[in-house]
Amino acid sequence: MTQHDQAAGPVATTETIEVLAEQAPPAADEILLSVSDLNVTFKGGVRAVRGVSYDIRPGETLGIVGESGSGKSVTSLAVMGLLDKSAKVTGSVRFRGVELLGAKDKPMSAVRGKRIAMIFQDPMTSLNPVYKIGYQIIETLRVHDANLSRKAARDRAIELLKIVGIPNADERVDNFPHEFSGGMRQRVVIAIAMANDPDVIIADEPTTALDVTVQATVLEAIKAAQQETGASLVLITHDLGIIAGMAERVLVMYAGRAVELGSVDDVFYRPRMPYTVGLLNSLPRMDTTERERLTPILGTPPSLQFLPPGCPFSPRCPLHIPQCSEQEPDLVAVDGEAPHSAACIRTQELIGQDLYEAGKVFETTHDDTTIAVAYESANSGGDGAKE
Ligand code: ADP
Ligand code: MG
Repeated sequence: MTQHDQAAGPVATTETIEVLAEQAPPAADEILLSVSDLNVTFKGGVRAVRGVSYDIRPGETLGIVGESGSGKSVTSLAVMGLLDKSAKVTGSVRFRGVELLGAKDKPMSAVRGKRIAMIFQDPMTSLNPVYKIGYQIIETLRVHDANLSRKAARDRAIELLKIVGIPNADERVDNFPHEFSGGMRQRVVIAIAMANDPDVIIADEPTTALDVTVQATVLEAIKAAQQETGASLVLITHDLGIIAGMAERVLVMYAGRAVELGSVDDVFYRPRMPYTVGLLNSLPRMDTTERERLTPILGTPPSLQFLPPGCPFSPRCPLHIPQCSEQEPDLVAVDGEAPHSAACIRTQELIGQDLYEAGKVFETTHDDTTIAVAYESANSGGDGAKE
């Protein structure tokens, strides 16, 4: 198998990427980034990503959500061409029709930063501790625009810091990364990501390493960066809660696969995959007068090296029936107000159910009962204290 079996266009070269730079901005309905049947296998047969597909249009935000180890980061690293050679990657990743899978380092480095920028979980992955942050932003600006004067680049760096909400940006520009808090450092990374006016920003758990109190402000900074650049955003998180206010569409991943894909409204109000129901019900509820309920999904995801034959979620799924263990279900179209798909043979069971009612199955089956009971008794003392 070649690396780009399903590629429609030619593999990116330095020339095709340069042509892209001169093209008119994408039309509103153009597919900017198209990931199709992406598979990543590591040595030892670890199948980290299995058949993931998604499309992004200009300015759109797609949330990718799933537990740790579900293949979210590996998917993005494959899109960016950042996996090492030991990873076997198949499928297709097209940016404005140009195939990126299998492209050499040189054209890929022209794509990275300029066309597709990435924000990682730990800001220190992207920042160099020995240089002032202003210098690092200026360097980024000048890599892609050699004609920019030092003065103009410094002014732009200060402007970018202001956009992401750094107070006293004209003084802070001369600070080193260690003089910033974690949240402020991540804002600097966002400023660098937007510096070259990318078309797509991929943010991989951008707030996970941060204190809860600063998470919202960093998300605001990402929104500001998106507004300034008009970029599309792929927002990766293990926390469905942060998707709601940020994304229009959500892709739910489990064991390396897409198990549900749809609009935020469909996925939040009409989830059609029990795993999504479980994720939603493990979020704190704000809309109830009942005591806040948190129902974790018990158990752990399967080994990606020795996947069982059926649905990979079935061992943890309260709706599990014997047929679930026979064959892995495809992602198929289900009901919704927008295109919506789910990978579950029991998806019909969830139709017409109130989400909260549906979620109760996670509390009342097998081992869950013991935890739910323990939780109830631990919390039954101070009624109302949580409101
Ligand atoms: P997520 O970002 O959803 O938490 P990842 O995409 O990082 O998950 O990882 C998916 C799976 O791939 C995990 O089981 C992880 O252990 C495995 N994995 C990631 N990188 C490598 C690698 N370089 N070699 C082998 N396995 C890897
Ligand atoms: Mg990750």
